[in-house]
Amino acid sequence: MPKSHGELGFKDLSLFNQAFLAKQGWRVLSDPSSIVFRLLKAKYFNNVDFLRASLSSGCSHIWRSFMWGRSLLLKGLRWKVGDGSSIRIFKDQWIPRPSTFKPITPNPGSDSLVSALIDVDPPEWKLDLINQTFLPADKEIIISIPLSFSGGPDSLTWHFEKSGVFSVKSGYKLALSEKLSASVSNSSNIRKWWSSVWNLNLPPKVRIFVWRACLNAIPSGFNLWKRKIMDRPLCLWCKTMVNTASHSLFWCSQARKVWGCTRFDSFFDFPSVSIRNDKGKVLAALSRPLTGLFSFDIGGFLAFREGLLLAKLHNFNVHIAEVAPSTASPLVSLDSALGGASFIVSDIRTLLAEVGVCKCQSITPSGNTLALKLAAMAFSSVRESLWLDFSSSL
Ligand SMILES: [Zn+2]
Repeated sequence: MPKSHGELGFKDLSLFNQAFLAKQGWRVLSDPSSIVFRLLKAKYFNNVDFLRASLSSGCSHIWRSFMWGRSLLLKGLRWKVGDGSSIRIFKDQWIPRPSTFKPITPNPGSDSLVSALIDVDPPEWKLDLINQTFLPADKEIIISIPLSFSGGPDSLTWHFEKSGVFSVKSGYKLALSEKLSASVSNSSNIRKWWSSVWNLNLPPKVRIFVWRACLNAIPSGFNLWKRKIMDRPLCLWCKTMVNTASHSLFWCSQARKVWGCTRFDSFFDFPSVSIRNDKGKVLAALSRPLTGLFSFDIGGFLAFREGLLLAKLHNFNVHIAEVAPSTASPLVSLDSALGGASFIVSDIRTLLAEVGVCKCQSITPSGNTLALKLAAMAFSSVRESLWLDFSSSL
């Protein structure tokens, strides 16, 4: 957001006020044992939770202010999936996609809980059920939500901060962007974006293809199935995934092979880990393509968790774990506010103790050449690869 739109300097005092009140709402939500929470609850929402409380006639100015702040909070608040038992699939905000945070798949009139979509041991998304229940746009996001081994309780998180903790700054930004999009036509931005696409130095037919792909107007399996030209929306190459535009262009195993031959292959990250003894000899290595799309940070945590699980499974006694710097720092700090990754980090902490790791140290990706080779293998494959050497011991 440009400075002229008020990112800095809090030019719109009314919106700043709303963000400040949203912060009070966040405090109330985060600490139900506080005196403020208990006083407000007794008076205004005795029978419901804070998020569903309503304005009553003749209520105080303070409560009206809280509700105004809450209306902003609700625009960026969503559930972080733990065991899924507190979240209603079609009625609650839990899909990490603004602006509604709810599935776009029409509600079949169900009150089912997200826990119904999760296998318990090990905790994994039920892919078949999710394929049957959701439109592809929802499915791809759902299977990219990381799950915790400990299956802890669901919790509320603020979508617009990496930490998941509400801040006045991000609340103000959100309020301002809502106001701008309501008052100023977005068409000028959209026009600017399209003109940048048209000005790319590409052959005209490639530009047209990019334009059609952005509009989801390419004959993908899913589009042909919608028009009843094909019987099934599945990809003809891998035969397992729904062939959306993004699947056929980026995520299919065949598409990955093509990207793997280009300099853009580093867009795609796969967890790959190796376990070495104190002389540097590799004892075990694993690469596993992910079923969803993850940020670089979360991908790093998932890789590390896979590695520790591998060590646990084969009773390797690991003393030193080497991980990417972005993965190592949250593990050594006591900061538990890691947004979507906090569950995985807590799994990792448990596993670290179980396999006997006494030191976590950073390693640059280029230092971990075996892991990189395995990532390349996973990149062009849809299968898990495991390599074990039992000829030596730790
Ligand atoms: Zn495919």
